[in-house]
Amino acid sequence: MKKSLQTCIVCGRGADKRTWNNLAVLVCRNCGLTWRESFDLSEDYYVKLNEGRANLDTQKVAIRLRNSEDRFNTIRRFLPRAGICDIGCGDGSFLSILRDYGYLKCWGIEPSEYYHKMTIDRNLDVIKGEIDEILNISKRKEVHAITLFHVIEHLDDPIGSLEIMAESLRKGGILIIETPDKDASIQKATDHKNELIYPEHLFYWNEKSLCRVLQEKGFKILKISRRSFDWKHSPIKTSLMRLGMVKSLSKGNTSLDIKSQTDKDVVVIKDKGKNFFRELLRILLAYLVRILGRDDYLLVVARRI
Ligand SMILES: [Zn+2]
Repeated sequence: MKKSLQTCIVCGRGADKRTWNNLAVLVCRNCGLTWRESFDLSEDYYVKLNEGRANLDTQKVAIRLRNSEDRFNTIRRFLPRAGICDIGCGDGSFLSILRDYGYLKCWGIEPSEYYHKMTIDRNLDVIKGEIDEILNISKRKEVHAITLFHVIEHLDDPIGSLEIMAESLRKGGILIIETPDKDASIQKATDHKNELIYPEHLFYWNEKSLCRVLQEKGFKILKISRRSFDWKHSPIKTSLMRLGMVKSLSKGNTSLDIKSQTDKDVVVIKDKGKNFFRELLRILLAYLVRILGRDDYLLVVARRI
């Protein structure tokens, strides 16, 4: 995968070098798209990822399902009743939710053996493969929607991948992308020292760069929203950081509740329910973050035109 880009893949402009969380990145001077200076992951990185690792414990599985159900509720009015392909479906939690709600003919594509095995155990229809498998699926089946949750930031050729998705969807087909928002308030509060900034994330998108590239590739933007991993259960301190009321106090990496593919992936909520008022405050702050649009992820719904 070794590759390095000097100009922005979205707008062609030059970029400034920065260091985020000990990683060298380049920030586009025009649209703000940010990318790692060097893409140094091996070709088969995701195929080999988690080899020999034990399955997720039941608590992590439950939190991921809860997060997927919240995401589903955010986008359900845009989802067709059948023919949804979740690319990079991970452990299949979103596909499980679709099945629970009676959606038919939904598939996944997942490169990692570890996650693919989990989807088989869950009886889900998932192909082990890379993103271009969607072209084979679309030749055999009608794909009405493609979802990409925390995938686009991992791709070394996101423009090429968006072209593949545009080709796989017919006119009117829906594309839904969720990715960390590089302009999110948590990035400012932590000076980019958090778990969203790490070597697997090759590109860091914002609303401007993502919407522009989608429009150029033949999509109309239907909805832009923001959410965080399992946001209703966010700790008080995390909400205060998202609201810009405190800066990260730790010198090291700030833990966020993200879907990552490492052992640190789901942080157990520590300060939940110490007493009623504290819990009430926690919930109010989480909702305030939501209302003010200060969540960590960008969620974009687009239609193929
Ligand atoms: Zn740019």
